[in-house]
Amino acid sequence: MDTLRQNDPQAIIEADKRHVWHQMVQHRIFDSVDPQIIVEGKGNRVWDIAGKEHLDAVSGGVWTVNVGYGRTEIADRVRDELVKMCYFAGTKGTIAGATFAERLTEKMPGMTRVYYANSGSEANEKAFKMVRQIAHKHYGGRKHKILYRDRDYHGTTIACLAGGGQQERNAQYGPFPPGFVEVPHCLEYRAHEQGGPKDNYGEWAAERIEEVILREGPDTVGALCLEPITAGGGIIVPPEGYWQKVQEICRKYDVLLHIDEVVCGIGRTGTWFGYQQYGVQPDIVTMAKGVASGYAAISCCVTTEKVFDLFKDAEDPMGHFRDISTFGGCVSGPAAALENMRIIEDENLLQNSADMGAHFIDRLNGLMESHKVIGQVRGLGLFAGAELVADRDTREPADERKVQQVVAECLKDGVIIGCTNRSVPGYNNTLVFAPALISTKDDLDRVADTVGTALTRVFG
Ligand code: PLP
Repeated sequence: MDTLRQNDPQAIIEADKRHVWHQMVQHRIFDSVDPQIIVEGKGNRVWDIAGKEHLDAVSGGVWTVNVGYGRTEIADRVRDELVKMCYFAGTKGTIAGATFAERLTEKMPGMTRVYYANSGSEANEKAFKMVRQIAHKHYGGRKHKILYRDRDYHGTTIACLAGGGQQERNAQYGPFPPGFVEVPHCLEYRAHEQGGPKDNYGEWAAERIEEVILREGPDTVGALCLEPITAGGGIIVPPEGYWQKVQEICRKYDVLLHIDEVVCGIGRTGTWFGYQQYGVQPDIVTMAKGVASGYAAISCCVTTEKVFDLFKDAEDPMGHFRDISTFGGCVSGPAAALENMRIIEDENLLQNSADMGAHFIDRLNGLMESHKVIGQVRGLGLFAGAELVADRDTREPADERKVQQVVAECLKDGVIIGCTNRSVPGYNNTLVFAPALISTKDDLDRVADTVGTALTRVFG
């Protein structure tokens, strides 16, 4: 493989074209263009097989490589742990697993237990299973329904799709398991489409959740699963008052609050977790992408001691969480996660995410003056979106093919950005940015300048 890489890049491209089934892509595009093979990374720069340098403003495509590429210290730590003890699963623990669980929960007041898995979807599945088992064990099976929000995404498995609010991800993969119920989104920019009010929209949007709980019957609803900020559904930063009201409603009806931090977790928004921006206390938190910044596959389903205690009936041989993930016993995950966390602390990356994020959002807002196609800029920390519209007054979404062209134009100029992709029908119109937490003002200025140029090329 190395020989191939050094001597024959075309052979690698051909092997990829012939044998790799790429994610989220219509493969016929590779009839006319070669797949891009990324061969090296350093900081927030990557180089493709043709030697072209790119500034990566989406942290590995899907907002994962929070501490940036080329971190030899993570590789070294993983290597050191692996040669000593690579893996053990089931009832036994490992040093890295215990240590990371302790460090992680220190960042999450009120949360005490970490269940390891390998992907965001899997962590969410664990949470769903916990909710179902709690319903069976403590509520005679009644409190089994899981509420999810329109436009939120929780993963790719059949249950995660059942509990996901992006119709274009779900279409053609049914039938889905029952017991998942949708609540409305909280995108204030589109409140008019929901008949929402101009004032106090946040509270109003949260009350729509209460409406669903009352309609379904509070004794049937076990949990509410929400992203702190909806990511792939359009970078939806919840309006003021929303989260407080959501928490109040969950407590009122004894509904577990499960927050999906797969994207927002580990510094993306400028705090360790997105929910910490809103002062709420979840019962279950799931996380994945930034946990080890992609250096290893690890996800976590973290709970309160109160949730954990619900599985502690010593008299019941079926009362514990009867779940196992083979690779939940990999040491590479927690080892990489420990070093990832150390880097974030030592390099003060939460602060950088908050400060640089504010600068970048200012820069995107600045583009609105000369680019009428930008309807709204939304974001928090180094996580931002620019929703493109055909008409600012009606807020009609821009043609998604043109939105994709903007992404392609940026790529030509050496900047990798993203856009909402096959998520909500008609609303794949938001440019998405999630640069590494190490990004500097200069990096972000370059991203904003490049987007401005691309918008002019595509929309005039
Ligand atoms: N939850 C959210 C909010 C996500 O954005 C994603 C993936 O993008 C997932 C869960 C699923 O994570 P994974 O792809 O690791 O299964």
